[in-house]
Amino acid sequence: MSKIKLAIYLSAGCAGCEMALVDLSEKLIDALENIEIVWWTPTVVDLKYKDLENLEDKSIDVALVDGAVRLSEQEHVIKILRQKTKVLVAFGACAAMGGVPGLANFHKREELLETAYINTWSTDNPDGVLPQTEYDVNGSKLTLPEFYGEVKALHQVVDVDYFIGGCPPHHDHVAVAVEAIIKGELPPKGSWITSGKSVCDSCRRNPAQKGEIRKPIEKVRRTIEGTPDEECLLQQGYLCLGPVTQGDCGGSCPQVNIPCRGCGGPVAGKDFGARAVGALASLMTDEAVDEMLEKIPSLGKFLYRYSLPVSLINRKK
Ligand code: SF4
Ligand code: SF4
Ligand code: SF4
Repeated sequence: MSKIKLAIYLSAGCAGCEMALVDLSEKLIDALENIEIVWWTPTVVDLKYKDLENLEDKSIDVALVDGAVRLSEQEHVIKILRQKTKVLVAFGACAAMGGVPGLANFHKREELLETAYINTWSTDNPDGVLPQTEYDVNGSKLTLPEFYGEVKALHQVVDVDYFIGGCPPHHDHVAVAVEAIIKGELPPKGSWITSGKSVCDSCRRNPAQKGEIRKPIEKVRRTIEGTPDEECLLQQGYLCLGPVTQGDCGGSCPQVNIPCRGCGGPVAGKDFGARAVGALASLMTDEAVDEMLEKIPSLGKFLYRYSLPVSLINRKK
């Protein structure tokens, strides 16, 4: 059997998803018997546009793209990658939903640039110079990618075949996905590669595992308030989003006293925040709702930590 030709591209992300691939360690080495990595840029090899452009169309079997789309260069590379690739996978929360970089959509482009290049206390920029797409240096024109006004998820730019959640995806889940790719046992196009279970399903704190019914939330606690006991975090007032989040991480955050924040993506439906509000509202007393609004002033950022670009509210106009 010929090896599967794999490309990996880091777009607007932190390379944490690629660390999850490397974290497969021996499993990755085993997988390399069946996989040939033909393009891993820019994290591993500094390949150029022409290296990708010169490949035949559809000559790459699978491409994993991690990171959202923020710059014109990223959009350019992803569009060529789509042309060269049979199966394109949005790998991790940023590519699948916009991720943490997508929270920038709560602010206008001008606000972001002013904060980054003018207003931070460590910035020394007396002339208030902002990034330019073109700059003349002694008669030579230098060009830089355009910083777009909004962050987009991968499928908002090109056709995407599969989605994998997580920030980063849990390495066990990556192993399952890589195996599915090697065996060609993939779900229907457009699906998430997922167990389909929620974080609560795999959480040892789930009251259902003891045959108990979840108690209403009467008090809201921020994570800095007290040390949780062994019961369900949500029941104790820590706003855990496990009920509406895909649990391919195996519930790794609640296992170590951290409430789930939704990086796995929504269990079903499109708008993660709307689903989370529905789940919380059905469990909270009126007093707890008031307390939540008081303790979490930026509820939008809390609910859409990983998914703002693909949400209904989407961006600041
Ligand atoms: S999903 Fe998380 S780990 Fe992956 S690139 Fe985005 S921020 Fe980094
Ligand atoms: S709400 Fe959170 S802590 Fe409670 S069972 Fe679900 S994942 Fe576990
Ligand atoms: S528990 Fe939630 S936030 Fe934590 S890794 Fe799993 S899906 Fe992501």
